[in-house]
Amino acid sequence: MTSALLPTYARAPIAFERGEGAWLVARGGERYLDFGAGIAVNALGHAHPHLVAALTEQAGKLWHTSNLFEIPEGERLGRRLVDATFADVAFFANSGAEANEAAIKMARKYHAADGHPERFRIVTFEGAFHGRTLATIAAGGQAKYIEGFGPKVEGFDQVPTGDFAALEAAITPETAALMIEPIQGEGGLRVIPHADLRRLREICDARGLLLIMDEVQTGVGRTGKLFAHEWSGIVPDIMSAAKGIGGGFPLGVCLATREAARGMTAGTHGTTFGGNPLAMAVGNAVLDVVLADGFLEHVRRTGLLLKQKLAALKDRHPQVIEEIRGEGLMLGLKLRVPNTDFAAAARAEHLLVIPAGDNVVRLLPPLIVTEADVAAAVERLDAAAASRESALRGAAE
Ligand code: PMP
Repeated sequence: MTSALLPTYARAPIAFERGEGAWLVARGGERYLDFGAGIAVNALGHAHPHLVAALTEQAGKLWHTSNLFEIPEGERLGRRLVDATFADVAFFANSGAEANEAAIKMARKYHAADGHPERFRIVTFEGAFHGRTLATIAAGGQAKYIEGFGPKVEGFDQVPTGDFAALEAAITPETAALMIEPIQGEGGLRVIPHADLRRLREICDARGLLLIMDEVQTGVGRTGKLFAHEWSGIVPDIMSAAKGIGGGFPLGVCLATREAARGMTAGTHGTTFGGNPLAMAVGNAVLDVVLADGFLEHVRRTGLLLKQKLAALKDRHPQVIEEIRGEGLMLGLKLRVPNTDFAAAARAEHLLVIPAGDNVVRLLPPLIVTEADVAAAVERLDAAAASRESALRGAAE
């Protein structure tokens, strides 16, 4: 039967019924190792008992109240995020794009509140991805997401990553902020060097700009720090997070210093479901796990192990794998064969990986992944690479 859903996703014909840790179980009982989990769902693994308990308990008490009343779980999650980061205040939304919308509006309002509404332009970086709303596709700058959707939202200027001359030239008296992902996820696991992030901070300070860090994909432990920008030693003025903080539940957050948020007063912004008690209970449960002693150390250790094994895999399959990229448990293989073919070959081995730009496949396992899961994943990648190699040989004959 044809699907009743809008065909905006190229869906593989597998339906999952259950998940346990790093594994998904399909209809029919087949088990898949989920190294795509970090893209959105279940950063802490499927059906994590602490998250299930928190959600179930909250579901039996209260699902929703309007943001016109206090939401104690949200006050608590906001306080914990603020205490763990550079930020003074938090705004809860329901997705990454929505958190970025808040960040963009906040940066513009910051200057407007100072009597400079003409300072609304935001400089972003080639290869960026900030979401699929009208403003965030303009921020991301990729034609394939913009074309056909009417006038592009004004006020975004894009420069090549790492080109500081182009960046300086793009900054005008109308510029409000720079917006960047510390590691480009959709763009192909491109790590922004820590020295470059430090230079961006200096430029923002010198030019009176706000620095917006999009940590929607990198945040909440994925790279072995709570947030990836921490590796560089700098702090942003505004930061968005989603994916990981919800552990698979729809939850986004925009965090900011009190100064950067000075324009956001009562009535300036809002969203009905932002900060709802169910999402807040899950977010708090996620932090219980991620902030527990030894958890980030586990991410760093297993990330390093996976990276070492991938380096050996690259040496075994130089015709297929060109480069290993990423940090922590946010790793990618830059390929010499089409990434969608490689992802399909991995899926045939019952390993899920996610294609990204620049002909990369992403490995974003749940952060609770074990050394045995890592070994199993690399065996399957080995088989997938071997199958692509024999396809190459077949084509050459
Ligand atoms: N920013 C980044 C860096 C992302 O990776 C994504 C999602 N891939 C988004 C924003 C958008 O998040 P969402 O799909 O939750 O709107």
